[in-house]
Order: sequence, then structure tokens, then C-alpha cells
Amino acid sequence: MSELAYPYEAPASQALFDRAAAVTPGGVNSPVRAFRAVGGTPRFMVSGTGPYLTDADGREYVDLVCSWGPMILGHAHPEVIAAVQEAVARGTSFGTPAEGEVALAEAMVERVAPLEEVRLVSSGTEATMSAIRLARGFTQRTKVIKFAGCYHGHVDSLLAAAGSGVATFALPDTPGVTGAQASDTIVLPYNDLDAVQAAFAAHPGEIACVITEASPGNMGVVPPLPGFNQGLKDACAANGALFVSDEVMTGFRTSRAGWYGVEGVVPDLMTFGKVMGGGFPAAAFGGRADVMAHLAPAGPVYQAGTLSGNPVATAAGLAQLRLLDDAAYATVDAVSAQIQGLVTEALAKEGVAHTVQTASNMFSVFFTDGPVNDYEGAKAQDSFRFTAFFHSLLAHGVYLPPSSFESWFVSTAHDERAVQRIADALPAAARAAAEATA
Ligand SMILES: *Cc1c(COP(=O)(O)O)cnc(C)c1O
Repeated sequence: MSELAYPYEAPASQALFDRAAAVTPGGVNSPVRAFRAVGGTPRFMVSGTGPYLTDADGREYVDLVCSWGPMILGHAHPEVIAAVQEAVARGTSFGTPAEGEVALAEAMVERVAPLEEVRLVSSGTEATMSAIRLARGFTQRTKVIKFAGCYHGHVDSLLAAAGSGVATFALPDTPGVTGAQASDTIVLPYNDLDAVQAAFAAHPGEIACVITEASPGNMGVVPPLPGFNQGLKDACAANGALFVSDEVMTGFRTSRAGWYGVEGVVPDLMTFGKVMGGGFPAAAFGGRADVMAHLAPAGPVYQAGTLSGNPVATAAGLAQLRLLDDAAYATVDAVSAQIQGLVTEALAKEGVAHTVQTASNMFSVFFTDGPVNDYEGAKAQDSFRFTAFFHSLLAHGVYLPPSSFESWFVSTAHDERAVQRIADALPAAARAAAEATA
């Protein structure tokens, strides 16, 4: 790695990272934050406002990560903060039912037609783990189909060929997951319906569910080809399996009703997180009422959580959902399109092979000629160009996801000034990408 890749020192962040490394494995609480894919010092952030983050060295960045999606209204939105302050003053956790969790569930059910009932949990991982357990309990079957490059949290049985941090680190297998757990998981190439049909034919009566990201964003943005999700739904229906659509990333982000609102394919079960928590740990799974009726205490499939439906988290999520009207999505979509255009323009000008892929306002840049339709295609890009591009933007005050396998996220707060800062930073970053060597 040349010196040029790290044009700025970040001494305060480095000091914090050194302290962190002494008490936390790798110095971080979620692997992709460690910058291992791109090298250099992870920036420790001290505050966020609107589209900006400020790090421990006092440097400000336009944020294109938005906490990996949740901050769709930007950081510290005054109405969300007010709702949180009002809630927190009434107490932080009761361990009883409370109205906030009912109101959040009602708001979700109102927006997403296939969601007849929801159960609140605290993370996307918990949501997919519980949805898989429920699908197995409901169908009395054991096997699960997932797709290479799709990430569903760090659920044991779903950590096979997963995207996100697992993609970034190319972990072949995850130690700690047993052979039995792995053998109940069938991993297929994304966007390949023939492979799905073949798997159902090879395992008659054994497949509990197919789980897929509604539109994948954890191998970079790789949207479903037309008819893919409907094909999954039909294959599940024909074979007595459930279709589980993971909308943890896309839910309440890609439209008012998430990816369901874009494509209209009706899943049996859905999972949510990220945007619905307004920056707090709130997530959910839900769907068909007859399936959800199998959950404890209504039914036999056990699932629970000390902090599930936490009053502060639900207040934040509800405040955020109430602000996310059609005008808000139009704003996010427009600013996303604007930034996509600027990125393409800058890279094209330097003759860098690339493709910008989108799923409404989610997008990412692959350093290869597109289209990229699956994980193999995503892995075939020139990631070393991304590294140079990333560090140049970072040095010029633009914070990208520190991996070429992640979606970029924008918010309603990304105004003209923020976009201009990105536009000003892009030419040098495109040049750095063009000049990078493997
Ligand atoms: C982020 C994500 C998860 C995991 O959510 P956590 O809250 O990080 O546990 C699951 N599925 C998808 C599609 C995600 O993007």
C-alpha cells in the first residue's frame, strides 16, 4: 500500500483505536468498521448532524453510510430527537407491554400490505433467526435455501456464503457453526431460478423456506432480475415452503413500503430492522397471521426478548416513520440519482471501468463493466480501485462504506451543499481509481 493511499493522519482516531484494540477483538464491535478491506485508521465519530459526521480529530465528512441505512432523515433529526427525549424522560424500559410498541406495529402493518402481524425484536439478526425458526416450526421441515452473497445477520445457519463483512473478509466458512447447522442450509447462486427448481426437486418435502434479501445490498447492490422474486414465491407455494423476504435493509428505505412497495411480490414472512429503529436497536419479523399465530404465547414456537419493543427505540422508530412520507422518499430518490450521476461522470472521464447499480435510492459502484447479477460477478470487480477511490474521498471529507461489497446510503438531509462537496471530491478520487494498481 503506497503512502498516497492515506493522505491524512487521524491521530485522535488512531489513539482511540489503539485503546479499543486492547479491550475489544480487532478494536471494533462489528467487523466492517475496522477498515480491514481498505486499510488505514478507522475514523471514530463523535457527532452527527444532518448529512455530516465529525470525527475525533475534528474533521467533518459527508456521510454516505448513514449508519448502514437507518439514518434516512440524516443525523440528529430534531423531531426524532424530541420524540426520544420525551420517551426517555418517562423511563427507559418497563419489561411490560407499552403503547409505543403497539403504535409502531400498527404503523408498519398500515404501510406494508403483506404484514398482517409483527413481532418486535432488537436486531436484524434476531429477526431473521426467529423467522427461520418460525418457518421450520410451521412447516415441520428443516432445510433452508439462501443465496450466495445475501447477508441475513450472523445467524449460525445463514452464515454460509454470506455477504457484508463475510464477503469483505472472504471467510470460506465460519468456525463455530456446526456441520449440522450448515448442512441444513442450501446455498444457491442469486438470480438463478433453475437452481431453485433443482433444489426443490432434489429435496422433496424437506425445504421449510427460501430466504432472500428483497433486493440484495450486502454484496454491493445487486437487484433481483425481473420475475426472480415472483419465481421464488411461486416455487415456494408449489412446494409447501414459505417465502421469507429479508427487508432489514430495504424496509421503509426503498419506498414507503420497502421493496415490497417497489415490486409487489407478496412474501409469507418478512424481516425488518435498520430504518424502523430510527438509529436505535429495533427490528421485527412478521407476515401471514396464520403463520404468526404459531409464535409463543399464541402458539408453540418460542421467541422472546428482555428489551423487545423498548419504549425509547419504538418512539424513535415511530417518529422516523411518521416523517417518511412520499415527499421524503422523492427527496432521497432524487439526491441518490444526482450522486449516482456525479460518480459515473467522474469515473467515465478517467476511463475507469465501472457500473453503478441501483435499487431505488440504494446504490453502489462496482469497479467492473456490468451488469453484476450475482456474488461471483460482484467478487470479479477490481477492488483495489475501490480502495484508492475510498481513501481519496475520505481525505476530501466524504465518508463511503469501507468496502466495495456494501450499499451506499443517502438521506433527506443530503442537501445541495453536501452534494457539492461530493462533486468537488470526485475528480481526484476517480483519478486515484484510474491510477491504482493491484
Ligand atoms: C443489516 C442486515 C441484517 C442484520 O441486521 P443487524 O441489525 O445488523 O443484526 C440482516 N439482513 C439484512 C438484509 C441486512 O442488511
